[in-house]
Amino acid sequence: MRAKALLIRHVAFPLMESIKGNRIRQYVKELQQTERYSSDDLQQMREEKLRKLLLHALDHVPFYKEFGSLRELIEKDPAAALVQFPVLTKDVVRNDLDRLVAQGVDTTHLILNRTGGSTGQPVVFYMDRPTVEHFEAARWRALSWWGIHIGDPCVMIWGSPIELSQQQLRTQRLKDRFLKNQVFIPSFDLRKEKLDEYLDLIDSYKPVYVYGWASALVLFAEFMLEKGRKVKVPLKAVLNTAETLTEHDRKVIEAAFGCPVINEYGARDGGIIAYECPAGGMHVMSENVWVEVIDMKTKKPVPFGQKGLVVVTDLNNLSSPRLRYQLGDVISLSSEHCSCGRPMPILKSLDGRENDTLVTLDGAYVNGQYFTNVARTLPSVRQFQVIQDSRDAMTLKLLKHDGLTQEDIDIFCQNIRDRMGDIHIDVQLVSEIARQNSGKLRTAMRTFALPTEEEIEPASLIR
Ligand SMILES: [Zn+2]
Repeated sequence: MRAKALLIRHVAFPLMESIKGNRIRQYVKELQQTERYSSDDLQQMREEKLRKLLLHALDHVPFYKEFGSLRELIEKDPAAALVQFPVLTKDVVRNDLDRLVAQGVDTTHLILNRTGGSTGQPVVFYMDRPTVEHFEAARWRALSWWGIHIGDPCVMIWGSPIELSQQQLRTQRLKDRFLKNQVFIPSFDLRKEKLDEYLDLIDSYKPVYVYGWASALVLFAEFMLEKGRKVKVPLKAVLNTAETLTEHDRKVIEAAFGCPVINEYGARDGGIIAYECPAGGMHVMSENVWVEVIDMKTKKPVPFGQKGLVVVTDLNNLSSPRLRYQLGDVISLSSEHCSCGRPMPILKSLDGRENDTLVTLDGAYVNGQYFTNVARTLPSVRQFQVIQDSRDAMTLKLLKHDGLTQEDIDIFCQNIRDRMGDIHIDVQLVSEIARQNSGKLRTAMRTFALPTEEEIEPASLIR
């Protein structure tokens, strides 16, 4: 397997680079240089990229032409100018996609991408090849901190690419196996009965690392611990992507796989945004992306340490710039530097999706994690999901099993009302709580838009 990794790293990958003209390895080298910069030098380099992007947007992107009055400020202080641009929501991108493409760019040469749409309507957007390659490079730069390199074998616990035909799927699998050195375990089909089969696959494939979503990894790890099974190969890491990992989840995965868990924070429509280093800092890939955190109600930037909506500006996408794009996640930035010495800023917390945040009767926000914490104190609750349908009504789904007690259900509802107000709770005992294709289990979600500050009325007026 080692020979195959070397073959991929030194032969197949460079060949692919020269055929496709991609520059991932060159970008990795550049990122390995910039991570040795001082914070000030890095910031200067980023501001230069931001200035170039903003001026380019004014000059060439129809959507941004009306912001010409910001030109002087952009020249002087691009960071201050950036916050004068509107936050770009998914709705705007959905409706104004063509005006977000730079003039003269042939869209047939761009990569048309779309979000999964699991949390609402999908969004279609353009990225160009250099942008995608910069993201890939950021991933490989970060993985190199952990001794993981291009071509190393990987087992992905991942959703099925359902949009592919059977033939495309076969071709894709061959490509994955022989060009990327990856095999897949389908995350939508994780069952205890199949654990032995999957572990045999891992043992025979001898991956250097395993990659997946937190909820799928946790489920897999729980099966392993329950059955007392281990992976026979020494793994360098388990890589968790795109989903918030609780400390509890991290411990379960580490205990089962016998290696550290690395957090990757990325989004299909935002690229690779942050990566955990071995010192535990969640570094923003700040050479590629400008990250801001804004208040959920006022949409104004919040101070370091405070939670809010993340908006990202991709510094490389000149073909279709999206300035201050609202991803839909809640995070906070730290004012501290990581003890590893790398200059890229670090995140203080990743707090899930914006629609994991529910709204109480009197307009306060409650992070979905609250309900997970409650459930953890109730021994008979195995799996649950809360869905907030309106400010005063919620559905609580509980996995039905013989041990589930009425007492725990009552305590759960009481805890919900303590926090949310005196709302209606529709308790449903169900035989299954559906996972998303990714294997992701959403424990809390809101199905209506967050009210703006003006819309929040005293509870008495609503009820
Ligand atoms: Zn660090």
